[in-house]
Amino acid sequence: MSSALEPTEELLELTRSLHAYAEWVQVVGSHGLPEASAEDRAARDEPSPHTLEAVEPPPPAPPPPREQSAAPDIPKPPPRAAAPKEPAPKEFGPREPTPKEPAPKEFGPREPAPKEPASAQPEPARDTAALRVRLNDLAARVAQCAACPLHSTRTQTVFERGTLDTGLCFVGEAPGEDEDAQGKPFVGKAGQLLDRMIAAMGFEREQVYICNIVKCRPPNNRKPTPEEMAACMPFLLEQLEIVGPQVMVALGATAVRGLLDTRASITRLRGTWKLFQGKIAVMPTFHPAYLLRSPHAKREVWADLQAVLRHMGRSVPQQK
Ligand code: SF4
Repeated sequence: MSSALEPTEELLELTRSLHAYAEWVQVVGSHGLPEASAEDRAARDEPSPHTLEAVEPPPPAPPPPREQSAAPDIPKPPPRAAAPKEPAPKEFGPREPTPKEPAPKEFGPREPAPKEPASAQPEPARDTAALRVRLNDLAARVAQCAACPLHSTRTQTVFERGTLDTGLCFVGEAPGEDEDAQGKPFVGKAGQLLDRMIAAMGFEREQVYICNIVKCRPPNNRKPTPEEMAACMPFLLEQLEIVGPQVMVALGATAVRGLLDTRASITRLRGTWKLFQGKIAVMPTFHPAYLLRSPHAKREVWADLQAVLRHMGRSVPQQK
């Protein structure tokens, strides 16, 4: 066999190849394979190209559901408390100021706790008729008294004057000549001045209660002795216990000494509050008889009486 073709033969071979390619294109087109016959496809079990869509493989089946693992037994948290509702903002009206919290005092001296205001306990209604009966009984006993030498020189005992209405009680020294004659305290000149003092305070003459340390007149209007005062003191204590004054005015040195058991001078004590038996306020001041001799002292006495009015919560007249 010859290994090299003649040019003519090469040309013939090329022509046969082109001819074969032209026939191929004529049969199958410029692309693809020639369609197989139905018999050929059936023999090869191939689907028809016109039914490709129908025979598309079914979509993959969804994966089987996961088998859920058994949840552990977790205790349920307690239900939450509902959050407090914020107050709706005030769009209208005045804003309320935010209250400032006082800063806690951790250091420094403690402030004293404010005193609780004393509860105003209304004074129970007093049976003044019964008190009057007791006073009359006491006055009758005083009238029979002979416990001290004064009983021998008296005309009569001098027990009281006035009423229990106001709670204000004046206590003097001893009856004078006029009082011994009338049986009532402070009815002479000194008593008339006391009446004017009482009127200046805004009271009627008989609205206040008036008595003395001793119930019998000392001779010649002398001062009662300590023994006479001590002998008569049980009557005074019982008398004041029945009267129950809210405030007392001690008129003169003898009255102050008898009520307060002190030898301090009236000049030093006047105008200063004291306590009788630790519970009844006492205002020492000058005796009206002293004012008759020393009118300049009226100013001090009036100041003391104004203090009494303030203590009683009453209005204080500014004149005098
Ligand atoms: Fe009695 Fe008093 Fe008169 Fe003396 S002053 S006799 S104690 S009532």
